[in-house]
Amino acid sequence: CAGQPIEVARPAPRRSRQARVVWGSRIVTVGGDAPVRLQSMTNTDTVDVIGTAIQVKELALAGSEMVRITVNTPDAAQAVPHIREQLDRMGIDVPLVGDFHYNGHRLLTDYPECARTLSKYRINPGNVGKGDKKDKQFGQMIEAALKYDKVVRIGVNWGSLDQELMAQLMDENSRRAQPWEARQVMYEALVSSALQSASLAQQMGMAPEQIILSCKVSGVQDLISVYRALAQRCDYPLHLGLTEAGMGTKGTVASSAALAILLQEGIGDTIRVSLTPQPGEARTQEVVVAAEIVQALGLRVFVPSVTACPGCGRTTSTTFQELAKQIDDFLRAQMPVWRAKYPGVEGMKVAVMGCIVNGPGESKHADIGISLPGNGEAPSAPVFIDGEKAMTLRGEGIAQEFQQIVESYIAR
Ligand code: SF4
Repeated sequence: CAGQPIEVARPAPRRSRQARVVWGSRIVTVGGDAPVRLQSMTNTDTVDVIGTAIQVKELALAGSEMVRITVNTPDAAQAVPHIREQLDRMGIDVPLVGDFHYNGHRLLTDYPECARTLSKYRINPGNVGKGDKKDKQFGQMIEAALKYDKVVRIGVNWGSLDQELMAQLMDENSRRAQPWEARQVMYEALVSSALQSASLAQQMGMAPEQIILSCKVSGVQDLISVYRALAQRCDYPLHLGLTEAGMGTKGTVASSAALAILLQEGIGDTIRVSLTPQPGEARTQEVVVAAEIVQALGLRVFVPSVTACPGCGRTTSTTFQELAKQIDDFLRAQMPVWRAKYPGVEGMKVAVMGCIVNGPGESKHADIGISLPGNGEAPSAPVFIDGEKAMTLRGEGIAQEFQQIVESYIAR
């Protein structure tokens, strides 16, 4: 007997306002009906104009739709327009976001070319100033954003939370009939800091569409709690990210766990995966992971998906693993060129399978697939195109032949 129809899991998108991050004719919309945007950050010294421009280009080509750079000194502020010039010369129109702490009010006031060239300013309310100076210095940054018509991200971070606000909330909490847990006070401090600063920015003349908020923490459960509360209490677009997520597998898994839950709930308009690169690892890895999270949830498609089986005792050779990796690397490397030439190529599905058990089946479900021979099977690899067996490959050059078949399939 048939039960109730099984519900299809779909994110119920939170309705946020839409911000527009602009450089020249490039407009990156954030929030509203825009797709979840990917962003990243350089780790070069911003004073190194060429090194920074090259890394921005790499991140942009990997799929980052905005790239943040540190602007921490007068020299860094002076370098910003030159970085932009280099990027424009390279044909890279990705908007640049300036990351300001402590002295942002001075840098944005004293270096108007820097203020003009950046497309968005990240302001950290926790270190914009103390006491009487706080609102004034925050106001100077908002004035720059108004003067040059820029978007700001009010980015609160647990590691640099406004201590005056925290002390005030702890004091208020101690007088509550039923005091909150320390964790709840922390959550409230994060959310209040972001909302109070956004409200102040609006009082100073900013439109709500010019404001993006973030409240980053490094714990998965903390991040989920804070963003759920933030999402309920405002309609600004939200930038998601697990701060200091860590290195390698740990950072990737923690970011994926936290961001996936929130994105599935429709919370999050732009994301950054903050990975600490391992020695020798490309900075672009964080963009690859961010894209994979969004693609795995079915929210956007960035690269053709490669279905590869894990292998088991039926196949003791590593040929199919190597082939799967070669195909994956090949597709990623070609994407910047293909995206422009072949619209829709991102949606393609490729299967690379290890034996007859699931190989032909998975290959038929893909747009193009290959089923390699397992132990004891005939040394041949059937290739399936659009669900039909199209040919059989044999011999040493299977990987190269299959790449060519994939390429000509895409071109067709
Ligand atoms: Fe093992 Fe074959 Fe399944 Fe791959 S397709 S996991 S080799 S049984």
